[in-house]
Amino acid sequence: MPKLKIYNTLTHNTENFEPMNTTIGFYACGPTVYNYAHIGNLRAYISQDILRRVLKYNGYKIKHVMNITDVGHLTDDADTGEDKMEKGAQREGKTAIQIADFYTNAFKNNLQDLNILEPNIWCKATEHIPEQIKQVQDLIDGGYTYETTDGIYFDTTKIKDYGKLANLQKQELEAGKRVDIGEKKNPHDFALWKFSNEQEKRQMEWEAFGKKGFPGWHIECSAMSMKYLGDQFDIHAGGIDHIPVHHTNEIAQAESVTGLKPWVKYWFHNEFLIMGNEKMAKSSGNFITLQTLKDKEIDPLSYRYFILQSHYRKQTNFSWDAINSAQLGLKNLRKQIRNIGPNALTDPIIEIEFLKAINNDLNIPEALAILWSAIKENKVNLDTIIMFDKIFALDLHEPDTKIEITDEIQTILDERQKARNEKNWSESDKLREELKNIGIDVDDTADGQKISQI
Ligand code: AMP
Ligand code: ZN
Repeated sequence: MPKLKIYNTLTHNTENFEPMNTTIGFYACGPTVYNYAHIGNLRAYISQDILRRVLKYNGYKIKHVMNITDVGHLTDDADTGEDKMEKGAQREGKTAIQIADFYTNAFKNNLQDLNILEPNIWCKATEHIPEQIKQVQDLIDGGYTYETTDGIYFDTTKIKDYGKLANLQKQELEAGKRVDIGEKKNPHDFALWKFSNEQEKRQMEWEAFGKKGFPGWHIECSAMSMKYLGDQFDIHAGGIDHIPVHHTNEIAQAESVTGLKPWVKYWFHNEFLIMGNEKMAKSSGNFITLQTLKDKEIDPLSYRYFILQSHYRKQTNFSWDAINSAQLGLKNLRKQIRNIGPNALTDPIIEIEFLKAINNDLNIPEALAILWSAIKENKVNLDTIIMFDKIFALDLHEPDTKIEITDEIQTILDERQKARNEKNWSESDKLREELKNIGIDVDDTADGQKISQI
């Protein structure tokens, strides 16, 4: 049987998957809930969902944890700018908690629309402040930190392998020295805890380290993942933008607190969704949401299908043409599946080929190609497709949309059946056109006429 191999950002290699623990601890960086997720963000969660489903298909037990960032993520990832949550609250004239609740719900609805499995544990940054303060205190006690006027910083020169995840080169570190680093000692040093600015009233602040303040963005993920998954666990996931700063800093924190390496064995990162020639991003305004797709009558699962057509480590370019053809492609796939007769048999090679593809660093585009050609060659039955759909989660076996068979449709179908019995093909074609004019497609299968919405 083909064994699971996945690309590990930490070793920069595709490796055999050999977990440290019997239940796989899987932590995914969740959304910052100050606005709707865009469909680029959702690519990250679809990719992670595929990973989770492939692990399950291989018989692994998984404990999936996802955080909700509801404090501390500044508009600039490098510890400057405004707090995104406070900014969202000002924009909408609501409290930060109201904003967080609203966009957390919207995010969960997006996951449901996309058939993304819910994590086993959701954890909010604001509900884990004591755990974060404790981790900062441990780092202070370990001698890894220094204080400036605006916060407590991690001194990255205290650890030898800082930047190993991103392969941060020495040259880059030196080039960084030329940028203005304010009171920081080194360009890559980062905030563990920020002090509130006395001039500005913040909605979310806590008393710690002798002042009012709030956590830096990275500490929530190391503190919460370790609370739920232990000091060392198997998989940590996010988009590639998290490699050089967020995940690099999480590793620095976690490994310094425990002294255990590696903190996480496999690092899983998806490539970007781009639009035009740029990364889809909220900050640049170059983004669309799932609701925008729905408003244009694009089924969220057509978006999932669009994403599955590219390997998760390749950039993919969103365009309206591409999403429209994905929608047609998925409809067509479901239609072909509806036409598979009850006596169809699966060629055992197909199931092995499928497993080989998904276990080869989640090669879902290839798995889809295997399914398409197996259908064309009559080598797959419905049970196998239902099993494959545990990975794709495209509702492949469901009717496209429930069609209400009106009297008008039934009359045309009856007349057409009569014409076919009489081998009156021109009449049968004429009636097919009549059905088309009212939005119905008809196929002639071994089990009789089958209809679907155009
Ligand atoms: P954020 O809410 O900004 O923390 O991002 C949520 C997730 O989306 C993270 O895993 C990001 O790395 C990922 N992400 C952000 N932009 C994109 C994009 N254009 N394509 C794919 N993933 C992205
Ligand atoms: Zn994170």
